Amino acid sequence: MSELVLGKDFFVEVMKDLHDMIEVQRDYLTGLDSDIGDGDHGINLSIGFRAVVEKLEAMDAETEDISSFLRKVGMTLLGKVGGASGPLYGSFFMKAGDDVKGKTEVTFEEFCGMIANGVKAVQTRGKAEIGDKTMIDALVPGIEVLLDEKNKDKDPIEVFTACVEKMKEGAESTIPLVAKKGRAMRLGERAIGHKDPGSESSWMIMEVFLNRLKKL
Ligand SMILES: [Mg+2]
Repeated sequence: MSELVLGKDFFVEVMKDLHDMIEVQRDYLTGLDSDIGDGDHGINLSIGFRAVVEKLEAMDAETEDISSFLRKVGMTLLGKVGGASGPLYGSFFMKAGDDVKGKTEVTFEEFCGMIANGVKAVQTRGKAEIGDKTMIDALVPGIEVLLDEKNKDKDPIEVFTACVEKMKEGAESTIPLVAKKGRAMRLGERAIGHKDPGSESSWMIMEVFLNRLKKL
């Protein structure tokens, strides 16, 4: 599986794809957040990724390696995205490249490690556990798939597809839950029956990575 190599350009292209996906899903994600939060999730992500795309050429030119580029993306999201998701997605991108500093290309195994590091950063920042009705309910089961499968002799697309599917299931699993984090906590049992918007945007973001992997 190590013959798949991702250059810095892969990550630059993913940012454009993320921007485009968020523009399409903005109202849907905001709608989910209106049900149990403050109705700004899609709008916040849209503001964030518009800022990323605006600065994309400069961030690409100013950085040599993937890790530094992603740090700049993370800092932009941190600065621009409001609500709980700004610091969380900001941390994801800021920390994703921690183990591949200085590298201008990464293997699929290293890429899986990057996604896992990003998710760990979200966990550290948000301090949520599985079952709290947050993006962790989608992200953590997904990276377990990556960490289990990345070393085995399997097709990267197959492995990453399984990861995204698991994240999608994780987002579904938030529907019957009472929230233990975020604004939805205040709703108590009234949050039951609604999907956590962060868990939904999480798998959507990973699906964008998957679709870009398929184009390699
Ligand atoms: Mg919100």
